[in-house]
Amino acid sequence: MNETDKQRGMEIEDRFAHFLEQQNQSWPLSASNYRGLAKVEEKSFSIGGWTLKVQFNPERIRSSAAKVDAGSIAARKCFLCRENRPPEQLELETGGEFLILVNPYPIFRHHFTITSLRHTDQRILANLATLLSLAREMEGYTLFYNGPECGASAPDHLHFQAGEKGFMPVDTAFERLKWEDGALLMESATTKIWAFDTYLRKMISLETSDAESGVCFMKRILETLGSMQPEKAEPMINLLCSWSAGKWILHLFPRKLHRPSYYFAEGEAQLLISPASVDLGGVFITPRREDFEKITSADILDIFDQIGLEEDKMEHLKQAIRNDGAKK
Ligand SMILES: [Zn+2]
Repeated sequence: MNETDKQRGMEIEDRFAHFLEQQNQSWPLSASNYRGLAKVEEKSFSIGGWTLKVQFNPERIRSSAAKVDAGSIAARKCFLCRENRPPEQLELETGGEFLILVNPYPIFRHHFTITSLRHTDQRILANLATLLSLAREMEGYTLFYNGPECGASAPDHLHFQAGEKGFMPVDTAFERLKWEDGALLMESATTKIWAFDTYLRKMISLETSDAESGVCFMKRILETLGSMQPEKAEPMINLLCSWSAGKWILHLFPRKLHRPSYYFAEGEAQLLISPASVDLGGVFITPRREDFEKITSADILDIFDQIGLEEDKMEHLKQAIRNDGAKK
């Protein structure tokens, strides 16, 4: 990264940091939750050389235990629509169809919700290009998308989230993963796509210097996944996206299940964990102390296994990506 890029990165980060500061000066609830974050407990596991963190964060109970069935969603007021948002919540315009809000229940030191101006369903396919353009605008942050059945607590209102890059272990693991473990599925003049065998969960990573090609390849991946889950409104996924030094990096986590068996278990056997992008990025969020204390690395691996796409479907997806690359 040259000096101009560094300077640009800092200016951009400062703009969002400044917005967060401004918000916390005028909204005691948000200020108190960001202050509380400094005291949030964390522990970590190393499995096969890869780091997994666990964060005890009681304020996240709203999200982890959110009822997202159609009936519950229809019965509540949408908390992302302007008329229902707290009057204290400030907006930062992006110049497009999205507004940036400070997330008042943070996981990250800088945690934003990027919400559509319209109350429209959470869908990724038509919004991939927007995600890449927002990621470029928010250099220094990792943006993420939780599918309507993969952790979004407002499946009826299109939104992304963003947190500082480097907080999720996947952000820093990627360079090592590429060299040590990466099966390069396809390579074009601008885009590379990998799959990984040792990274503990099902993940496809795409790196591109050209937004249009990146979107095109990712769309075809999502279409292949969609054909495997025809009963769903869209394939079950979580997606991370960041931009730096002229390249976008996207990590896609294809899934088959919304919540693992532990979520529905009773008594001692229960772990109130509802995995979404941040968990798959390597930070497990436990809103209850007992879960934070008892969760083991074996539980985490089992959760990854339960929610990740079936092995045979993953193989089919990888082959489809190879075939797609061979046509270029
Ligand atoms: Zn709404």
